[in-house]
Amino acid sequence: MSRRCDSVGSAAPTGRLAPSPTGVLHLGNARSFLLAWLDARHRGGRILMRIEDLETPRVKPGAEAAALTDLRWLGLDWDGEVLVQSRRAAAHEEALARLAARGLVYPCTCTRRDVEHAAAAPHAGHEGPVYPGTCRGRWASADEAEAATGRAPAWRFRVPEPGSAAGVVRFHDRCVGEVEVDVGAELGDFVVFRRAGGAAYQLAVVVDDAFQGVDSVLRGADLLPSTARQILLQRALGLPTPEYAHPPLVVGPDGRRLAKRHGDTSLRHLRECGHTPEEVVGWLAHASGLRPDPSPLRPADLVTEFELARVPREPVVWHGNWPTRIRPLAEEE
Ligand code: GLU
Ligand code: ZN
Repeated sequence: MSRRCDSVGSAAPTGRLAPSPTGVLHLGNARSFLLAWLDARHRGGRILMRIEDLETPRVKPGAEAAALTDLRWLGLDWDGEVLVQSRRAAAHEEALARLAARGLVYPCTCTRRDVEHAAAAPHAGHEGPVYPGTCRGRWASADEAEAATGRAPAWRFRVPEPGSAAGVVRFHDRCVGEVEVDVGAELGDFVVFRRAGGAAYQLAVVVDDAFQGVDSVLRGADLLPSTARQILLQRALGLPTPEYAHPPLVVGPDGRRLAKRHGDTSLRHLRECGHTPEEVVGWLAHASGLRPDPSPLRPADLVTEFELARVPREPVVWHGNWPTRIRPLAEEE
């Protein structure tokens, strides 16, 4: 018997679906969104929609509408208006100003290469080298930083000292268990506002989750490493911390996160091949420990019986074919 997530969670939570319009949604995204939707609906909660379109170089035209189309096709719905993150610039700037007023952020003119070179020992944290604090106390203002270097600065959050009570973040994750992250040791000061202007993901998520009243976050395990940073920002801004669940990702037979090399598992492709959303949801429900067999069904059919505690803590493996009447899909590669 594999280990499972736990079902402890608040009653009638407010959850959210937060797709990034950077490409098509595939089976892995579909699973996270289905679980987020079920987890909120089962507990009689609300589920909100937020389009995370801030990573402008990666945002693809038309991908926003395509993501909503894919999710509706799957049988998911959401409450209230869609919140588009790029329309929240004023609130993001206001949060940056509040952090700046308390001396919790500073302008940074380092390039990626600077950071790699300056990192004392090339100690690789989970996401690249630990930022060595080069620009801490270096510039009196963003204007001074820009005048001196000819480059608009990014803004970094001043993470509490490694090992300090404030810097070691502990939280309970409903799928992972107890998590402890020393953000200063693992990562160092991180970017909250980008050089090009606009909030970085970490800050935007924290500000917008609070704005939407989100108190329950369920998203893929790839975002688990971001959570401690987000909790530090919530504390710095005086915002509440939601409950978290990071179910494991869908992986290919090679154990690696689902990607192009595993064939086209985009919902659009499945739809174009004539598969029904019920087949997709049936497979996801079965693969997620919710149903003994993969017979087709709609998300709404699962609401009553859903328990996050039935979802295994191990990744779901996609073998490239369907156990139901669905034909194996054309393999790329
Ligand atoms: N937009 C992010 C993604 O699609 C999700 C962010 C979040 O859930 O916090 O990967
Ligand atoms: Zn710097």
